[in-house]
Amino acid sequence: MAIILDLDNTLVRWQQEDISLEVVSWIEEAKKLGFALCILSNSFSGHRVKRMAERLNIPFVRRAKKPGRAGFQQAFRLLGHHAEQTAIIGDQLFTDILGGNRAGVHTILVNPMHTREFLYTRIISRPPERMLIRHFRRRGHMGN
Ligand SMILES: [Mg+2]
Repeated sequence: MAIILDLDNTLVRWQQEDISLEVVSWIEEAKKLGFALCILSNSFSGHRVKRMAERLNIPFVRRAKKPGRAGFQQAFRLLGHHAEQTAIIGDQLFTDILGGNRAGVHTILVNPMHTREFLYTRIISRPPERMLIRHFRRRGHMGN
């Protein structure tokens, strides 16, 4: 099994580099359990993504253009797993989750770590995302 990880507001705060102890131990535990891991980030800052991935000692795809499928294909190659054996964990419906569904992986939506994020995300993506999440919750399509 493999897990694709979003970076910003999933593993670290947006544009930050401090990795919490919790995240480090979660990653170590996942590795011990035999999960193949890979970071898939849309961040423009390719160097930062590389540094984070190196510190966690996992492969990465930067400038992934989620929800496009190309980045996911690259991730599958790095992970050595097919879509059916893979899950993505991310904080955004219109990039991580939509992209994950298009690529045919299992999807796990987490709450963003922090409210600070790319202006476009905050202004354009979050309001309809909140509406959709409320809608899915009412229909019982989402946990908690
Ligand atoms: Mg994110």
